[in-house]
Amino acid sequence: MRQVTLKDKTFVPYITSDKISESVKKLALSINAELKDEFPLFLVVLNGSFMFAADLLKEVDIPCEISFIKLASYHGTSSTGNVTELIGLTEEIKGRTVVVVEDIVDTGVTLEKLVTVLNKKGVKQVKIASFLLKPEAYKKDIEVNYVGMRIPNDFVVGYGLDYDGLGRNLKDVFVLKSN
Ligand code: 5GP
Repeated sequence: MRQVTLKDKTFVPYITSDKISESVKKLALSINAELKDEFPLFLVVLNGSFMFAADLLKEVDIPCEISFIKLASYHGTSSTGNVTELIGLTEEIKGRTVVVVEDIVDTGVTLEKLVTVLNKKGVKQVKIASFLLKPEAYKKDIEVNYVGMRIPNDFVVGYGLDYDGLGRNLKDVFVLKSN
């Protein structure tokens, strides 16, 4: 795999699309087994999780609904914690099992805010599915129920994840090259 340059930064290969696809399939198997009687509503958090969500949900074979929401909390290469409101939720979610589909959980600030909003709306339970998790950075108590892969505290792009709007279309995951 080649390295890629996005604006002023260079990224090197990190996780191949084959490995990604293997982990996403495994994750879907757990969801199929554990949530088969729940008629879950998958809430896909745009933009970063679009690719993960598409691959994951093709493997989910239980009755479910899928919806898309948007939050903004991130600028450049470090998490700001400036989470804004949730846009796009039109479904009635009271009493439902909601599965939040995230690209990556870093500090967990975004996730905590979102889960608080969902709980206020009276959901039955919130489950979290995240393609990536950074355990060294994650400081919250909320359980991330379904994790594709755990990675160190590095900045990654590709498979939906961007650097200043670029790199989302890469099918592999790349990590910022250390100088
Ligand atoms: P948190 O609130 O958990 O610190 O950050 C969550 C959000 O920050 C993610 O949904 C994602 O948009 C962004 N983020 C965190 N780590 C990375 C990373 O390594 N690469 C990219 N591209 N975005 C990240």
